[in-house]
Amino acid sequence: MKIWLDGGLQDMESARVSVLDHGLTVGDGIFETVKTVNGRPFALTRHLDRLARSARGLGLPEPDLDEVRRACAAVLEANPMPLGRLRITFTGGHGPLGSDRGEHGPTLVVALGDTTRRPDSTAVITVPWTRNERGALTGLKTTSYAENVVALARAREQGASEALFGNTVGRLCEGTGSNVFVVLDGEIHTPPVASGCLAGITRALAVEWTGAAETDLPMDVLQRADEVFLTSTLRDVQAVRRVDDRELPGAPGPATAKAMRIFEEHAAADLDP
Ligand code: PLP
Repeated sequence: MKIWLDGGLQDMESARVSVLDHGLTVGDGIFETVKTVNGRPFALTRHLDRLARSARGLGLPEPDLDEVRRACAAVLEANPMPLGRLRITFTGGHGPLGSDRGEHGPTLVVALGDTTRRPDSTAVITVPWTRNERGALTGLKTTSYAENVVALARAREQGASEALFGNTVGRLCEGTGSNVFVVLDGEIHTPPVASGCLAGITRALAVEWTGAAETDLPMDVLQRADEVFLTSTLRDVQAVRRVDDRELPGAPGPATAKAMRIFEEHAAADLDP
């Protein structure tokens, strides 16, 4: 497997970054996961825009987006696979122990993994921990994902593939790696970015393509919604068939099935929407 590091392709097995890289020591880094289909990235321009936004939010140097594009193309060419996920990681680079930034330049790593097509429906749980809708990192796609790792492990223990968070004022927010949508009386709703959720790229496309509304929603909407679905780069649109103990028989329901179809059709027509 070839990855991109230090301006060129390297063997993943022998590639090295500093043990004092701030991505490792303090989680001062950002990332993107980009779906690839037959060696071509999906929605790369939107992912690069978000990477640059996250860098600005964290006060990291501006990533060289031309280099990131070249790196993605080189990694994809070196590692052919039908369905994959590019992982772009950009960190503060080698720095002092502690939280002060160092003098060294940032680290850029682009790697590729394979992935499988997601099942049409899945089970989710809610967790008692909250997303902070007003934090310094809110809405940024940082490498500080330990909270998501903990919540996802809880979901797996309960036979679910995703854990949903509320925010500090009890409103529905997002999953560990996905955005959440609900269907109420035939209308599709998703929490606004002000809830503290990541501005998911799949979420934005689903809102544009289905006309879903951005609505501030209480957590208990999950107990009464007619349908629930998730969006993410690797799930696309995925129906939810169980939330905690509540079964949603027949998932995907009609509105979700329609959203899945609309998403698939638009995505097939334009690789960089
Ligand atoms: N929310 C979080 C916390 C995520 O990590 C992700 C994706 O990784 C998403 C939402 C969905 O975003 P996207 O559709 O851009 O993959």
